[in-house]
Amino acid sequence: MLEGQRNLEDRSESDDFENLTAQCYFTKFRHTLSRLAVEVLSQGANTFGCASGSWKIWSLSDGYVDLPAESLRHPNNKMCRQAESPQQDDSLVRLSVNCFLFDRSGIDRVLIDCGAGGSWDPSMGHLVEAMAEAGVETSSITVIALTHAHGDHINGLLMPDGRRAFNSLRKIMIGQDAVEEFLAEPELEEFRPLLAPINGGDRLADHLLAVAIPGHARGHMGYLLNTDEEDVLFCGDLIHVPAAQFARPELTWAYDDDDSIARASRIKLLQGAADTHIWLAGAHLGRPGIGRVVEEGEGFAFIPAAKPLTTELS
Ligand SMILES: [Zn+2]
Repeated sequence: MLEGQRNLEDRSESDDFENLTAQCYFTKFRHTLSRLAVEVLSQGANTFGCASGSWKIWSLSDGYVDLPAESLRHPNNKMCRQAESPQQDDSLVRLSVNCFLFDRSGIDRVLIDCGAGGSWDPSMGHLVEAMAEAGVETSSITVIALTHAHGDHINGLLMPDGRRAFNSLRKIMIGQDAVEEFLAEPELEEFRPLLAPINGGDRLADHLLAVAIPGHARGHMGYLLNTDEEDVLFCGDLIHVPAAQFARPELTWAYDDDDSIARASRIKLLQGAADTHIWLAGAHLGRPGIGRVVEEGEGFAFIPAAKPLTTELS
């Protein structure tokens, strides 16, 4: 049994996860009838586009960040040695920073998270360039859904020179419990009128459900898109080091607010995703950051929607 499963079973089922599994039941049923797949439309160094039903989904790279490998921890808080390190430096792990966009004709496009802007390392803050590469105008973005209020997810609302990145923005969906942290960034105060606080279980549209994923940050929120053919869960920071945490989801990340709740959420959601064949799209999954989860050994494995290209932003 995986470490953390006991915690998991002790926790009462959250309404959000009940909603998620109810929603996914139908997908599971459909999958027993025929295996549907997303159709890859395009792939570039920093962009990936696919279609599911009448929906288009883009994965857009904001860049990457190298962080101390010691941030990955065993449940007893011991440091975990990482097997893979893209920079040949095993003191660091490289995290992709992904944003996502989905739309269908007749509805507002929704951008999931907006990257780090100019607030952090220059290896991040490239969302607008990725959008240009994908042929998506920043002025076409009217709705942003934030998974949480950490800097690598919200600061891309502003360009490095302080201008707004998305001039037509009308609404920013954000977990109710993440609002305070968002507004703690003085430069983001100007977005206060656009904030639309939500809670797990809220149905945001016919096709879109908010799913609370507690543990990583206050108000950490997933967004479950139903395309009529697939369910895609934009799961934010459920996983930080995919090379380690799919196989060993009990490993925690030092930046999680609450290790044990984050671990329980991760194990429960990965199990749910493997059981119901939903797609996961994660902010720090390796490019293209979207794929399926299967059980493997004591843990899980991730099957990306497409092989990553080797070129990355630098
Ligand atoms: Zn993050």
